[in-house]
Amino acid sequence: MVKIRFTRIVRKAKILTGSNSVEEYRLEHRVDPLTGRLSTVCPGIKEKRGLFFGKPDWTLVKTLAEESKASCPFCPENLQSATARFYNLKKKRLRFGKAWAFPNLYPRAEFEAVAVLTPRHFLGLNQFTPRVLYEGLRVLLECAWEAWESKPRLKYACIGGNYLFPAGASLLHPHFQLIMRDLQFNYVKELSRCSEAYHREQGENYWEALVKQEKSRGERFVGYVNGTYWLTPFAPQGMDEVQAVVLGKSHLLELDACILKGLASGLSKVLKYYDETGLSSFNIALYSEALGVKTEHFTCLLRVISRPNMRENYTNFDGWYAQKLLDETVLVDSPESRAADLRKLFP
Ligand SMILES: [Zn+2]
Repeated sequence: MVKIRFTRIVRKAKILTGSNSVEEYRLEHRVDPLTGRLSTVCPGIKEKRGLFFGKPDWTLVKTLAEESKASCPFCPENLQSATARFYNLKKKRLRFGKAWAFPNLYPRAEFEAVAVLTPRHFLGLNQFTPRVLYEGLRVLLECAWEAWESKPRLKYACIGGNYLFPAGASLLHPHFQLIMRDLQFNYVKELSRCSEAYHREQGENYWEALVKQEKSRGERFVGYVNGTYWLTPFAPQGMDEVQAVVLGKSHLLELDACILKGLASGLSKVLKYYDETGLSSFNIALYSEALGVKTEHFTCLLRVISRPNMRENYTNFDGWYAQKLLDETVLVDSPESRAADLRKLFP
């Protein structure tokens, strides 16, 4: 078996401070072993993270939650009258447990569904239970089946989520989305292309090799739940990034209830950890190859990242020109230290 190479390029930056002392910073540029993209770990600017991320302003969150509740279209008393219904599916809205799915009123793709995860208007990150997450993922997966059967052309699908305004949510009420169209998403296309090249050149599935290697090294391996392998990536593309690799499944429709429960359970633990470390906002995305197409090289991948904290005038520390225009990520906490903390929450 070929070993995956984890390349770190260490550089130093020296500056003369106002008081004429010399400050030296260690910078670690990391190369993503699959895509070759760079991420930079700068532990020296950790205090800057505290300054920019700050602490969530719970008084503000509480006020916003109370103010928005009465007019919230996702709350149970408004949901049936305020949300849209599917135009070309047999069921006009879908339900699983306490989760409801219906079309996004402002679609950004030919098919876009929203799943309201819970009747509760607001959840702290430690309140996203495995059940809440499972029901949300499950109802969106049922949407994917229905939409695909009614229009097989819409074979590129992604389940995603934005929680709280710093993550891009327009409503506070916990919800996820499913986007389906006939064009693959940029980043998934890149991952698929690189995975295919790796498979062709090395004769094995990159993700299987990655899980095997990370599991044996242990530094970034977090745990295993129901067919899902959790780890922190060597060169993260987002803050506090954690990934779940679903080996042997290359597209969403291959995911069964057991795997969805694994994803929900692992995600619940990651969000609990975010909560414990003073975070309040996150994004997720669950990637898939073309629906109905079983490939040797790709595996479904769930990514979760933290976003700036909910507070007035929050600083978008993770959205300056490095990320937006240079496509590079700067981190202050190493993926290894995050994995060490997270492991304690996984069985
Ligand atoms: Zn609500």
